[in-house]
Amino acid sequence: MPISLTDDKSADLYARARRVLPGGVNSPVRAMRSIGRDPLFVDRAFGVDLTDVDGNRYIDWVCSWGPLIHGHAHPRILEAVATAATAGTTFGAPTAAEVEIAEEIASRVPSVEMLRMTSSGTEASMSAIRLARAATGRDVIVKFAGHYHGHVDGLLADAGSGLATQGIPASAGVLESAARATVVVPWNDRDAVEAALDAHEVAAIIAEPYPANMGLVRPEEGFLAFLREATEARGTLLIFDEVISGFRVAPGGAQDLVGVTPDLTVMGKVLGGGLPAAAFGGRRDLMERLAPLGDVYQAGTLSGNPLAVAAGLESLRMLDDDAYLRLNETTDALAEGLRAAAGDRPVQVVSVNGLVTVFFTADPVRDYDGARTADTEAHGRWCRGLLARGVYPPPSQFEAWFVSLAHEPQHVAQTVEAAAAAFEVAWA
Ligand SMILES: *Cc1c(COP(=O)(O)O)cnc(C)c1O
Repeated sequence: MPISLTDDKSADLYARARRVLPGGVNSPVRAMRSIGRDPLFVDRAFGVDLTDVDGNRYIDWVCSWGPLIHGHAHPRILEAVATAATAGTTFGAPTAAEVEIAEEIASRVPSVEMLRMTSSGTEASMSAIRLARAATGRDVIVKFAGHYHGHVDGLLADAGSGLATQGIPASAGVLESAARATVVVPWNDRDAVEAALDAHEVAAIIAEPYPANMGLVRPEEGFLAFLREATEARGTLLIFDEVISGFRVAPGGAQDLVGVTPDLTVMGKVLGGGLPAAAFGGRRDLMERLAPLGDVYQAGTLSGNPLAVAAGLESLRMLDDDAYLRLNETTDALAEGLRAAAGDRPVQVVSVNGLVTVFFTADPVRDYDGARTADTEAHGRWCRGLLARGVYPPPSQFEAWFVSLAHEPQHVAQTVEAAAAAFEVAWA
């Protein structure tokens, strides 16, 4: 479905992009292939008002996949970045702001006594796993099917054949030996977790506590507490990947919301306020194994970059109790509106503070197999219908909508209206 009659600049850019960038993009989901259309080339955005290079305007529910909890180009974040930049953009030496953001994070996230910053979530989860292996002297990592922890070799693994068996590569170029050190189990499946922990000497379980990379699939009541007990009983570490849920579902992330304390936490997205910053942190005795104190090597030229730290710090400081109340109200209004718009059609609207997914499936989703029953064709038509009506949803069934503090009631109302109209054509 053409989104307007004047998409010339997008088409030109896409043609040029495909010659010099694989698929025309720098990260695959942006190509919009899974909803059956060409990518959107962005010109500018303020708040949640995003304009493409052809002048089409959209209400943005992607918000750069999570970092922009205050919306685009927030004046306070712009000012913080500009002020930092005038003093120099990078030093490769410590700064006061890095101490401040570390203190700010530790004061919010219950389990984080110390942390190390990185530039991406991928680096942070890779480093957390290295640390977990060093601390336990064990090799095997347990992860959940459909959870994403960045494009770390060993975590790009699919379940092998049979319960609790070693993983197999989920991408070309991943060593079989790397995937074999990972055991992949279904989310919300206690028996599978117990079996994996019994069959192997497991260094760590890594989990998104509110997984949002297969679409949002909530943990069942008590499941996160179960993970804590099951790991503790066996000397296995528990790593929460809160790159999405951190500073979003509650001030201290999912661990704050549900009261379960992991050994290590991976953070990113909101943490960088829209600039490249991420971190991993946790128990002091574990974190002190990192170089230069300990024997686990980890480093980064731009880690703790002054611009990213300034943006992140300002972003965190604006997240007060009132902000979370508003974010949750907007999330509830969006979820309820989408549910009402869907009526008795076969969709599931799932939400938690700041995140929403509309699954195009008749049954409630509890794991990746459930998510994969979704009608991705119908979902693609729905998303194209939304874009045609000025609403920019995450262009994949296996992602969440990112609610921001810049989404106002009128954005929700316009979105729900567009969604209702797009539902009419989704199964056409
Ligand atoms: C985005 C994401 C990552 C990877 O972060 P990058 O900054 O893209 O490398 C890791 N874990 C989760 C849960 C994510 O959503």
